[in-house]
Formats: sequence, structure tokens, C-alpha cells
Amino acid sequence: MGEFELIERFFKRPAQQADVGVGDDCAIWSPQPGQQLALSTDMLVEGRHFLSTVNPRHLGHKALAVNLSDLAACGARPRAFLLALSLPRVDEDWLLGFSQGLLDLADAHGCELIGGDTTQGPLNIAITVMGETPHGQSILRSTAKAGDDIYVSGHLGDARLALEAFRGNLSLPQAAFDLARARMETPTPRTALGMALRGLATAMADISDGLLGDLGHILQASGVGARLDLSPMPGLMLTRQAWACPREWMLRCVLSGGDDYELVFTAPPAARAALKALALSCHTPITRIGSVIPDRSVLLVQEDGRELPNTFRSFDHFA
Ligand code: ADP
Ligand code: MG
Repeated sequence: MGEFELIERFFKRPAQQADVGVGDDCAIWSPQPGQQLALSTDMLVEGRHFLSTVNPRHLGHKALAVNLSDLAACGARPRAFLLALSLPRVDEDWLLGFSQGLLDLADAHGCELIGGDTTQGPLNIAITVMGETPHGQSILRSTAKAGDDIYVSGHLGDARLALEAFRGNLSLPQAAFDLARARMETPTPRTALGMALRGLATAMADISDGLLGDLGHILQASGVGARLDLSPMPGLMLTRQAWACPREWMLRCVLSGGDDYELVFTAPPAARAALKALALSCHTPITRIGSVIPDRSVLLVQEDGRELPNTFRSFDHFA
């Protein structure tokens, strides 16, 4: 199968919202009047972000999910994406699984594949997503205020737990491993929550490299610090069996695990009731984990009120 047949067969579908989709030199697409574009690119590299043995359907899902998560973090509505794909060979079963995982998630979020590039080479997937936010309403990192509450969506730490189990660093009961593995391989982008937080959240980021690291970006950009309450942290792990792990392990997974694709955001205390209602309507749990302080430090406060030294390191490709 040649390059063009491959594109035709696995990635070309009738244009939906695009004026011109896959097949021309450029995709042509019109944002709605009064909207700003939100653009983001994320790349997945074999051996770095995933193993060659991963289910291709899950890989297709994850490649788009991590990009949709960036749109959610700005409160943007997903509209369209471009797919740059480097493949060692044409493996039809692999392509079928990959394209289905990718396009199912795309359909679920109203995000249309409008173009891309396909080449032979080491397996590498780069996606560029395009979203929209009403003018001036995107949620940035730099606008958290001292006194704001700090929240996270969903559950944290399960992806890291799965990774450690894969590496043989800990063993989990089968059911717990399956749950953690599903969280690692098929994360859920928090699109509805992200959009609903426009006008309520003062600052937001998605958690790809670990809570402390990604919250740290908000704090740094906003020139503030945080006081985090560690008592709700065990409850953030979906894989309850992990609670039986040494506490140090559990905290490490939740605070600096990475690959969570949840949202961390700040909002004034006056927004608490509105946020509760909004989390219900978006079917996405949120947990208040602390507050923003004027001093540029991060305090981790334990159940007994004592401070835990912050020795947690977030993921960094070059560190
Ligand atoms: P050109 O070389 O003229 O830039 P290409 O041969 O790279 O065009 O691609 C042909 C068409 O197929 C273009 O519309 C391009 O956007 C689209 N395309 C290529 N690869 C992909 C892909 N992996 N997914 C979706 N569309 C793709
Ligand atoms: Mg090209």
C-alpha cells in the first residue's frame, strides 16, 4: 500500500466543519466569529512516551487525548487537528487500530482531522490541535491570586503507579493494575470541565508532568506560592489498593507522578458553590487541595499540621 492509499483508507473522511479537509495542499477552516484560536502541539515518541507493545487503539486515543488536554487547560473548545505520522512500515492491522482509537476520541470531542503528513521512519506521532475560546476568555497560567483555592480534577497518580508496576518496582493485584494501566494508556481529556471553568477559574494548567511541577508553572507565572493540604491526597488515587503501598510511594505518585492529564486550577473561595455544581454537571469530580499564598514557596502540610519537606521531582526530558 502506498502513502496516498494509506491516507485515503485510514485518515480521510468527508469534511464536517472544515471548508476543505484531508486531500488538498492546505486544510481550509473558518473559526466562528468572535472566537480566538487556541493552538497546541504534542508529540509521542516510541520508547520515550510509549512502548512498542502498546495496543495501537490505545495509542491513537492517547496521542489525541494529550493534545485535547492542552485545549481543556485553556478552556478552549476542540475544533480540528493535524496529524504528522512517521511509521517504520505499513502494518494494516496496526493502522486500523490506531486510526479507530484516534478518530473515536476525535468524534467524541467534536474535533475533526483536517490534514497532516505521513512519512516512513521511526514510529513518531505529532498532533497539532486547534480550538476556540470566546475573545479574551482563555484561562492562562499567569493569573492566579493569593487567597484563591487550588483544585484538581479527577484522580492523580494512577498512570505512574502503572508505570512502576511495568518496571517491576512494585506489584499490584491484577484488578488494580488493569485500572491503573487503563488510566495510563487511555487518559480522559477534561474538555467539558475546562470550558465550563471560563469566568470562574483564575488560572489553569493540565497535569502532564506531575501535580507539583505543573502547579509550579502556574505559581511561577503568577508570582505566588501555595499551601497544599496532604490529607485529601490518598483519596485522589483511583486505584484504592495503592493506599496500601508505603505512604511515600503513594504521595510520590499523586504529587509528582505525571501522565495524569487532569486539570489543576485556582479559583476564589466565593466560587466554591458554583464549582461544586459545575463539577456535577460535567460529571467530573474536583477536589480542593490547598490555597494560593503570596509567598513564592510551596508548603506541603500533613494531617497533623506538620510540614513535609518538598523533595518531589517532576518529569523533565532533559533533567
Ligand atoms: P503535500 O506533500 O502536497 O504537502 P501530502 O502528500 O503530505 O501533501 O498529503 C496529502 C494530503 O493528505 C494533504 O491534504 C495532507 O494534509 C493529508 N495527510 C497526509 N498525511 C495525513 C495524515 N496522517 N492524516 C491526515 N491527513 C494527512
Ligand atoms: Mg506533505
